[in-house]
Amino acid sequence: MVLHLHSEQSADRALLDSASAARVAVVGAGVGGTLTLSRLAELADGSWRGTALDIVDRPESLGRGRAFGSDIAAAAVNTSAHRLEALSPTLHSFRTWHAGLGGRSTDLDIVPMSRSVYGDYLTTTLAKAIDRLRSHGVGVRLHPMHANAIRPVDGGIAVLGDTAALPPADIAVVAPGVWSPAPTRHDTVSAYPLSGLRSRLGGSRAVAVLGSGLTAVDVACTLDDGETRIHLLSRSGTLPRVQVEAARTGDAPEHLTAEAFRSHTGGLTAEAVLSLLDRELARFGRTRADIFSDAAHADHWTDPLADPADLACYHTLSATNQALNTAFALLPAAERHALRDALGPRWFRYRVRVPLSRWRQLRRMQAEGRLMVHGGIDARQTGLDDVLTDLGVNRLIPALGQSSILSEGPALVADLAAHIGCDDAGQGLVDPATGRALTPSGTPRDDLLLVGQVSAGSYFTVSALDVVAGQARRAAQTVADHITTRTGLRMPVAGKAA
Ligand SMILES: Cc1cc2nc3c(=O)[nH]c(=O)nc-3n(C[C@H](O)[C@H](O)[C@H](O)COP(=O)(O)OP(=O)(O)OC[C@H]3O[C@@H](n4cnc5c(N)ncnc54)[C@H](O)[C@@H]3O)c2cc1C
Repeated sequence: MVLHLHSEQSADRALLDSASAARVAVVGAGVGGTLTLSRLAELADGSWRGTALDIVDRPESLGRGRAFGSDIAAAAVNTSAHRLEALSPTLHSFRTWHAGLGGRSTDLDIVPMSRSVYGDYLTTTLAKAIDRLRSHGVGVRLHPMHANAIRPVDGGIAVLGDTAALPPADIAVVAPGVWSPAPTRHDTVSAYPLSGLRSRLGGSRAVAVLGSGLTAVDVACTLDDGETRIHLLSRSGTLPRVQVEAARTGDAPEHLTAEAFRSHTGGLTAEAVLSLLDRELARFGRTRADIFSDAAHADHWTDPLADPADLACYHTLSATNQALNTAFALLPAAERHALRDALGPRWFRYRVRVPLSRWRQLRRMQAEGRLMVHGGIDARQTGLDDVLTDLGVNRLIPALGQSSILSEGPALVADLAAHIGCDDAGQGLVDPATGRALTPSGTPRDDLLLVGQVSAGSYFTVSALDVVAGQARRAAQTVADHITTRTGLRMPVAGKAA
């Protein structure tokens, strides 16, 4: 009976107009690409048979992307196992996978977890997603190459790679990750990959790092060999705040929620968003001035456990990325600028933290005179050479963070700017509900979806894992809707002829 059903189905399939099968391309299979494919696998069913799916990325990056590459243990994830589990697709639980490894502790207060562990999980997740899609008859092909351009052509959107050009897809998801502005000096050494950093530095036992954020922390921990002296140079002269997992006493946000913004009556303004933020802070006896205060930051760095209200407040605010992105999407352009200006880099300094175990390591390095943080140094002003000479260092590691300006990106990213809408700063724009890239005139394109940093113009915050995971879900839904629409257009050849 079952056999009969199968042969009937294959006879029907043979009659399908194969030209109507969907053709999908995913360029970049790091976090965003993997989570898009995982969600797509969850949505797939047998009606998708015949869909062609091309995945383009370098083999060593599949699943792990740039952040969670097979680098060294010094690169610590700053996201708790609890959060990573919450972001897991249903087809592969992080907690179960990790327990299967032998239950190594992931309490970030005690032992930092190497980012490559999460990368291993993502690689396995990608394999599971591909298996699931293939089991539904989706023709998945991996193309081990780097894409140089995505071009609209007759019949779809073409992916031009360094070793091949793919047949035009009718919809492409582009998730190429983050990039940094090109260094402007000749004496710089790149921070990543961390595993080769020591040899790129030659025999230098004193180095300067331009920046004092998370990349600078990565560099410091990598060079923590008991000998090397590391100078972090930045305008603020402060290290990121400290994340204490044991202090998970924060409640869910009450005021700074996506619902509050969606149901806001009248035109939403930056001031209205800030006032809801102020109400959220007030629950913990905090004000914006406390969040932004350099003195409070310094106190916190000296003893991160001393202020439980601040830690509770932080844990509540860490759940507000989606709400702020919702508000951002609802704000008119001028109000978006006002919100960014009002919160600025200090908001991210408060929100993006190093685990407590990392803080202990950095404090030890400071106490032993191997880590020095210098403030008041602006990379764009002259005088940096004098600073380097005074410090007696001849190697500079840029750690100024990532760019979100498309024209500063690698070929694929810079080329995108010619086909999509950008904001005044040159950041890519999408329709956040569907992930569709906007055209230069502002309408959503049907053939191109953007995930991650390439869409930074449409979000208040974009590179955090939870934001990328949300984008991936919405992009997958858009692709699934497209495949289902194409599937619905299929009909037996005889019926079509009539
Ligand atoms: C060093 C670092 C550490 C981070 N640590 C954390 C953390 O601990 N916790 C946290 O929440 N967030 C962290 N983040 C932020 C965020 O989670 C990552 O940026 C996240 O990986 C973004 O996902 P993505 O898919 O956009 O990029 P990625 O995961 O980097 O994926 C991009 C993929 O695209 C591929 N690609 C790029 N260009 C091309 C091309 N031309 N052709 C084909 N493929 C291409 C790359 O090879 C890569 O596989 C970190 C970011 C960085 C850079």
